[in-house]
Amino acid sequence: MTDLKGKRALVLGGSRGIGAAITARLAALGAETAFTYVSAEGAANDLAARTGTRATRVDSADRSALIAAVAEAGALDILVVNAGVAVFADPLATDPDAIDRMIDINIRAPYHAAVEAARRMRDGGRIVVIGSVNGDRMPFLGGAAYAMSKSAVQGLARGLARDFGPRGITVNVVQPGPVDTDMNPAAGPMAQAMHDQMAIKRHATSEEVAELVAYLIGPHGAIITGAMHTIDGGFGA
Ligand code: NDP
Repeated sequence: MTDLKGKRALVLGGSRGIGAAITARLAALGAETAFTYVSAEGAANDLAARTGTRATRVDSADRSALIAAVAEAGALDILVVNAGVAVFADPLATDPDAIDRMIDINIRAPYHAAVEAARRMRDGGRIVVIGSVNGDRMPFLGGAAYAMSKSAVQGLARGLARDFGPRGITVNVVQPGPVDTDMNPAAGPMAQAMHDQMAIKRHATSEEVAELVAYLIGPHGAIITGAMHTIDGGFGA
């Protein structure tokens, strides 16, 4: 089993859903783990108490606060950028500010956080961004801006993998399909339409996604970089 004892990890957006499962997994594997959240203070405090991790409120859309938080985390071995929002709406009727906030959280924040982390990251470090299969495929109306944001992090990983590769630092994107979280409940109104697109017709659990992240972070991930890792029940097939 992967042993992350002595490793220091930061999960951006770790209070709920996929991020909470990743935070719990990293802590269980022995990493000294901190995570951020933006609004769910109760959930964050509960998770921190249950897993022996540290929670800090940092809005990923606030670039200065985000960069300061990553810098304060010190010499990380592991950065997971999970914080993300999804705006699905008629593009002709959507508030442009909502789109720009999504771009700040889903595109700008992963880039600035990854670069800031790399300044102090130890050789052999790991950077994982949670993208989406929608970075490859968007079969639904109203998802253009979300898909754009998840395609953007593909370029981030390809480029930064080369910039940081000489230090043994890997940069990867994990691309889930439907995952049962507050963002996309398995019993939600869109569930059937999503399952219709899948070979295995169910939402994934957050723990299934966290396990893939743990693999990439572990010793076998050392040669895996600049790549997209889709975990989607065949949604994108
Ligand atoms: P949830 O909405 O369930 O949880 C989102 C998490 O991100 C929470 O911890 C939330 O904090 C945090 N977060 C959101 N905005 C910010 C912000 N501005 N600053 C800091 N933290 C923030 O989402 P999921 O777990 O479903 O999604 C996690 C990631 O996975 C996202 O990037 C999403 O796009 C991606 N994804 C999800 C899929 C799904 O089907 N669920 C499918 C494909 C990709 P707080 O609790 O404080 O609100």
